[in-house]
Amino acid sequence: MYDVLIIGGGAAGMTAAIYASRKKLSTLVLEHERGGQTALQPEIWNYPGYTGKEGAKLLETFRQQAVDFGAEMKSFRVEKIEKEKGENNHSFFVAKDKDGNKIETKSLVIASGAKPRKLGVSGEEEFDNKGVTYCATCDAPLFGDKPVAVIGAGNSGLDAALQLTKYASKIYILVRSDTVKGDKVTQEKLEKDPKIEFIFNAETKEIKGDKFVNGLLYKDKDSGEDKELKVDGVFITIGSIPNTEFLKGFCDLNQWGQILINPRTNATSKAGVFAAGDVTDIEERQTVIAAGEGAKAILQCYKWLKSNH
Ligand SMILES: Cc1cc2nc3c(=O)[nH]c(=O)nc-3n(C[C@H](O)[C@H](O)[C@H](O)COP(=O)(O)OP(=O)(O)OC[C@H]3O[C@@H](n4cnc5c(N)ncnc54)[C@H](O)[C@@H]3O)c2cc1C
Repeated sequence: MYDVLIIGGGAAGMTAAIYASRKKLSTLVLEHERGGQTALQPEIWNYPGYTGKEGAKLLETFRQQAVDFGAEMKSFRVEKIEKEKGENNHSFFVAKDKDGNKIETKSLVIASGAKPRKLGVSGEEEFDNKGVTYCATCDAPLFGDKPVAVIGAGNSGLDAALQLTKYASKIYILVRSDTVKGDKVTQEKLEKDPKIEFIFNAETKEIKGDKFVNGLLYKDKDSGEDKELKVDGVFITIGSIPNTEFLKGFCDLNQWGQILINPRTNATSKAGVFAAGDVTDIEERQTVIAAGEGAKAILQCYKWLKSNH
């Protein structure tokens, strides 16, 4: 039985593992994909002390640090978590994979992250990280004086456009319907900016390019015509999907499937279960924030273990 089981080997999980092992908790990290979303980024520019290098290398240093302090790592995809009663009425948790392998733990930190929602159009995968991006906070500065398109006009799309006004030469915001779903005040602010052009009733059909993105094809649903925009970047901001399938019915999730946490303590609705990073209902999703949240979660988990075990 481990003191703490950490689900997720991204920035949140690895940071939790560093702190847990330094507290001498017996710690196991279960990771489905090594390094999480950060490890997929070819360049990270905004992690303090680390600029312009691969995300995978950054996460390998997190991992090594956790291992050096005694944390164990295991490739294991959690399919289900259950709470069970042990001796002295102490409850514990069991994580199971699809083959029924089981791991027992006194407490849990869930840091299973989220994946960006894909548009599913031709060119999206081919030009991923070659002009197609899902993160304006990360990539807006790479599009200085270039025309770009933002797909989606919810709050994250409007926020992406707002960030891009500092860099890009022209920003097309493609809206699928005839109304903007995001915040009205931000919409009005954007409408006053000469760089911004909202295109309503626009259905993206294809992202075009050579080595990098150089255009976008969309269907104008009013006229039925296909139209093309010359853009060097496409920011896809249509939401993200939290990795919480294995948590349904176990702890409280919000309408988008994110884990509801107490933002002060990272506690979930289940005693002894904490959560951190992109899988939770926090507002900002960045590597440095996930790392900080991972540290917060495990320090609270440590206090919980001390008073309950
Ligand atoms: C395209 C893109 C670019 C980005 N660029 C930057 C950037 O430049 N700078 C920046 O600061 N942030 C960037 N971000 C945001 C950053 O990557 C995330 O905020 C960060 O990765 C969140 O860390 P996390 O640990 O919460 O989750 P993740 O990194 O998503 O890690 C989740 C971990 O949980 C594992 N997991 C999931 N389900 C299970 C399961 N059932 N069982 C076991 N393990 C499981 C995954 O395999 C993974 O190891 C970017 C995000 C995207 C999508």
